[in-house]
Amino acid sequence: MSNQTISITDSIYKYLCENSLREDENLFSLRAHTYRMEQRNMQISPEQGQFMQLLVKLMGAKKTIEVGVFTGYSSLSVALALPADGKIIACDISTRYTDIAEKFWTDANVRDKIDLRIGPAIDTLQKLIDLGLSNSFDFTFIDADKINYDNYYELCLKLSRPGGLIAIDNVLWSGDVADERINDIDTESIRSLNKKLHSDSRVDISIVPIGDGLTLALKK
Ligand code: SAM
Ligand code: CA
Repeated sequence: MSNQTISITDSIYKYLCENSLREDENLFSLRAHTYRMEQRNMQISPEQGQFMQLLVKLMGAKKTIEVGVFTGYSSLSVALALPADGKIIACDISTRYTDIAEKFWTDANVRDKIDLRIGPAIDTLQKLIDLGLSNSFDFTFIDADKINYDNYYELCLKLSRPGGLIAIDNVLWSGDVADERINDIDTESIRSLNKKLHSDSRVDISIVPIGDGLTLALKK
């Protein structure tokens, strides 16, 4: 026993999955499909998808944003947890990936909950602000190019309602953020956002060690 978060060994991870995962068949099929792709590591883990579903349900979220869709696992997770009138504005630049996402959203009967916007996410988010949608979103998931993480955070903070939640993925970056010898641009971007958030009085925060590290920032 310890008052520190335990290290997850392979056998503990297997136990965790065996005793908690309730993965929908469409999510399972999408994960199997994406596993055959070279870029498969971009997909969130199934237990993280389930955790995000719990957050969405806990909040009673309806208006949500996703920054970084890839083949659609995180958006499908959130869409399945949303009520019938819930929506996701889903941002990505790649139709090569999102064509796959759209097929699986359709198979899972949630296609109409997802408003896919193809283009640089900074532009998509700024357009929402220009349309007067600031202070209105319940839940946001940020998981696109790491170099723009701070831009995404600032834009999503504007778009979030007070009490809205921003979830930011990969904040532990395989541990690289904690190794000061590693200074590539992606690591530096995540590290500097983590540092900024630690003292950002606009939000309450927690870094949750699930997947590759997930920061939860609750707008005050
Ligand atoms: N959340 C996804 C999942 O669970 O499967 C994984 C997202 S993947 C790590 C990152 C995605 O961000 C890619 O699909 C990529 O095309 C997209 N992306 C990269 N740069 C972007 C940009 N400037 N604007 C919007 N999307 C971008
Ligand atoms: Ca990610």
